[in-house]
Amino acid sequence: MAFEHRFDPTILREYDIRGVMDKTIGEEDARAVGRSFGTVVARNGGSKVAIGYDGRLSSPAMAAALEEGLRSVGMDVLRVGRGPTPMLYFGVYALEADAGVMVTGSHNPPDYNGFKMMLGHGAFYGEAIAELGTIAASAAYAEGQGAAADRPVFDDYIDRLLSDYRGDSSLNVAWDAGNGAVGEAMVALANRLPGQHTLLNEAIDGTFPNHHPDPTVEANLEQLKAATRDNNCDLGVAFDGDGDRIGAIDGQGRVLWADQLMVLFAGEILSERPGETIIADVKASSVLFDEIARMGGKPLMWRTGHSLIKAKMRETKAPLAGEMSGHVFFADKYYGFDDALYAAVRLIGIVSRSGESLAAIRDRLPPVVNTPEIRFDCEEERKFAIVEEVRERLSKAGADVNDIDGVRVSTDDGWWLLRASNTQAVLVARCEAKDEAGLDRLKGQLGEYLQQSGVAMPAI
Ligand SMILES: [Zn+2]
Repeated sequence: MAFEHRFDPTILREYDIRGVMDKTIGEEDARAVGRSFGTVVARNGGSKVAIGYDGRLSSPAMAAALEEGLRSVGMDVLRVGRGPTPMLYFGVYALEADAGVMVTGSHNPPDYNGFKMMLGHGAFYGEAIAELGTIAASAAYAEGQGAAADRPVFDDYIDRLLSDYRGDSSLNVAWDAGNGAVGEAMVALANRLPGQHTLLNEAIDGTFPNHHPDPTVEANLEQLKAATRDNNCDLGVAFDGDGDRIGAIDGQGRVLWADQLMVLFAGEILSERPGETIIADVKASSVLFDEIARMGGKPLMWRTGHSLIKAKMRETKAPLAGEMSGHVFFADKYYGFDDALYAAVRLIGIVSRSGESLAAIRDRLPPVVNTPEIRFDCEEERKFAIVEEVRERLSKAGADVNDIDGVRVSTDDGWWLLRASNTQAVLVARCEAKDEAGLDRLKGQLGEYLQQSGVAMPAI
């Protein structure tokens, strides 16, 4: 019996599979993902697939259907259980699996769900995800019947996280799991770290009753800021819904965005490994790239997208990479995947050993003024064309442009960025200057270039 299956065209995305439950994605899709992804694993000579799932209400049933699909094409399934996405990645290493699939809707609203995949130790993305649709449509599946077994890795995962903690003084830390899949692991970790810990929203609850589990939106950090203030904490850390993105605030309740955290992480690593390459995406502050160079490292600006960053990291053997979205990848002492709990352990260690506060460390960073990431809707069909038109006009004008991902334009004032999102019908912009007047000039220039392509600059 054949199982031809057509996915809703919107769910096979650049970096993952994702949709709205029982509208664009459901258990039949999970079975088809299992069959088609298992077929790819078989073609690569593998037979063991680790699977995990997040705290969404629909996740256990989606994981069961995924497992059914994987087994029906001969895969042996290792169930690592419920937890954050990086715990599943860890499970692939710890269990010596050939691949891994995480059932997760990441930071999206409760009615979303989907899959993140890992083949061997590499990310599975782009064309490889599109190929799953082709395999499913023709039911060109591998044959066989696999088994399944519970292989929980929770305790080993927590031990592994803790094994890289190095601290001197004990800190007072606030933590916010946002009711996401990181909850239990966050509690286990905090209980075993020295110091005092205030835990927020640690109960895993797929309805996300307190706030949205996305720490890159500052409004979602209000609760953490209040807890940090009320308990006189040295710092606060927050996680997205599946624990692969980190947010952090200092003792004064100020956010340290990922490019600021990266300066700290890069400093620690470069002090032990001078001359190494450190990667950050095109949205990151020039302060980060300049600081990496000043501290004796090789800064490398790369395209936005966690799978792209991970691939570049393997290629260049960089010990550290990070994205503005909060994905931070440590290959220094760790596996090179994005694990926000691990990043928290390293951050707490750095502050603990510094003998000063995170606020004081933050105040020493070179001052710049910048916009946050500005995202605005744009027709899907036009988004790449608009960026290309802007690039051509910049080129004619003789501008200093890095076009690795959209355009990042450097001027005497600073820089501005315009790129098309790979995952949404959205254009993304950011500007950064040495002072407010410079920032206004950069915003004006960006606005003019957009205008010439018929796009109105959103109010910032
Ligand atoms: Zn995530």
